[in-house]
Amino acid sequence: MSESISSSRRDALKQLAVLCGAVGALQMSRSADAADLPHLVPSDPTAQALSYHEDAKTVDVKQFPTYQPGQMCSTCLQLQGNAGDAWRPCNIFAGKLVNANGWCKVWVKKA
Ligand code: SF4
Repeated sequence: MSESISSSRRDALKQLAVLCGAVGALQMSRSADAADLPHLVPSDPTAQALSYHEDAKTVDVKQFPTYQPGQMCSTCLQLQGNAGDAWRPCNIFAGKLVNANGWCKVWVKKA
C-alpha cells in the first residue's frame, strides 16, 4: 500500500515537473515573441494621436502640462513585459514595443 502511495507521489511529481517545464517553455516563447515586435515610432498615427515620445525627458511641459517629472513608460500601469528591458509591450499600443523611458499622454501611475 505504502509503495502504491509512494508511486503515486512519484508520478504526481513527474507530472508537476513536466507541467512546470511546459509553462516555462511557453513563457520563454512569449518573451521571444514580444522581443520580435517592432518598436513604436513617434511618427506612427496612433503614437501621434497620444503624443508618444521615445524619451520622456524631451516632453515639452508647456505643450503637455499634465506631464510631471518621473512619468515614463516604466512607471506606467499600461506597460507589460520584463522589468529592465529597454523596449516592452504596452496595452495601448498592441503589437508594438514602447521605450521604457518613453511617455504618452495617457500615462497612468502603476499601482
Ligand atoms: S500608455 Fe503608458 S506605457 Fe504605454 S506608451 Fe503611454 S506612457 Fe508608455
